[in-house]
Amino acid sequence: MKSNSIAVYLSESFGLGSEKISMKPIGSGHINSTMLLTAPKKSLVVQKLNTEVFPEPDMLVKNARLIERHLTKKRQLGEYDLAIIRHVPTVENNYLVDCDNGVWRALEFIGGSYSEDVVLNTSQAQTAANAFGQFAVALEDFDAKQLHHVIPDFHNLAMRAEKLKAVVAKDPQQRLASCQADVDFCFAQFGLIDELKALTGIVPVRPCHNDTKINNMLFCNTSNDAKAVIDLDTCMPGYWLYDFGDMVRTFCSPEQEDSTDLANVCVREEIFAAVVKGYVEPLKDLITEQEKQSFWLGTKVMTFMIGLRFLTDYIDGDHYFSIKHANHNLERAQNQFALYRDILAKKTTLKAILRDV
Ligand code: ATP
Ligand code: MG
Ligand code: MG
Repeated sequence: MKSNSIAVYLSESFGLGSEKISMKPIGSGHINSTMLLTAPKKSLVVQKLNTEVFPEPDMLVKNARLIERHLTKKRQLGEYDLAIIRHVPTVENNYLVDCDNGVWRALEFIGGSYSEDVVLNTSQAQTAANAFGQFAVALEDFDAKQLHHVIPDFHNLAMRAEKLKAVVAKDPQQRLASCQADVDFCFAQFGLIDELKALTGIVPVRPCHNDTKINNMLFCNTSNDAKAVIDLDTCMPGYWLYDFGDMVRTFCSPEQEDSTDLANVCVREEIFAAVVKGYVEPLKDLITEQEKQSFWLGTKVMTFMIGLRFLTDYIDGDHYFSIKHANHNLERAQNQFALYRDILAKKTTLKAILRDV
């Protein structure tokens, strides 16, 4: 289907008519295809869902709408200040539209906002971490058992390690020779799996966002305050250490996650301190001592695990993360391992920052 016919079809489906509409890509997410659909009366964000990643899109929407409803109640009670990204129904009151060999949904567009791929300064890091903390607190009394596990074992490092082992054994694209050193490095880190297992029953399972990347935060164009937490696709029960660790992973490096300038990939300690400060402040009445201590493990695990997943996908033939060029997933993996190595090298400093908050 031509892009203009897609725009017209979606625009009519979501009640925006077919006159004077335009559709263009927005943001830099790499799971779904995200577009801004603009019509004279309003704009919507439309997303073609990645059904390889989310084979049950109706469950995805169901989850997100349960969370929308919970956050709406919290806002009415004055307990949540951020904007809520709501799904928009079609004229026939459905939430999914079949178009262009895929499934689409529409979300309310939050205007006057921007997202970042790399954190610019400590104030931005603290603001975003604080907003993710507010989101975590707002979900604390949400019954996460209602949520369908859209991606089972999403942050299960043991399972991710098994997947890497399986794909290494098969080497379906004959790519192993090009990344053997990275694979060996990965295998040498599997002690992290036992460290995680040791937390079972000690650290509480809570509703988590599970994708607290910096580009899943919208900032206000004028005040630079946090405007909304977005991308609720992977909200599922988990540990706060996952959300914390993913912030460290995506906020602290001065380079994007696919940068090949590995010499410049590092943890900026001042950004790490800002993340800790921003995130822990809203959680202070709920967080347990063990949970706070587990943030060090979260820092290591999340950076390592996403590196492992990029590497697995590279060896497997790039099925999960969309790539822009050959070796893109290998470059992403090597970038994340460089960051992970720097985290280990800065252990004393980072642990001291965690302890002092
Ligand atoms: P990821 O790779 O993080 O999983 P994704 O493919 O799921 O991303 P989103 O994070 O939902 O996609 O959206 C991609 C980008 O589109 C965001 O980073 C943001 O810049 C923009 N965006 C998404 N939803 C909205 C919205 N409701 N209002 C304004 N901008 C939005
Ligand atoms: Mg996103
Ligand atoms: Mg997403």
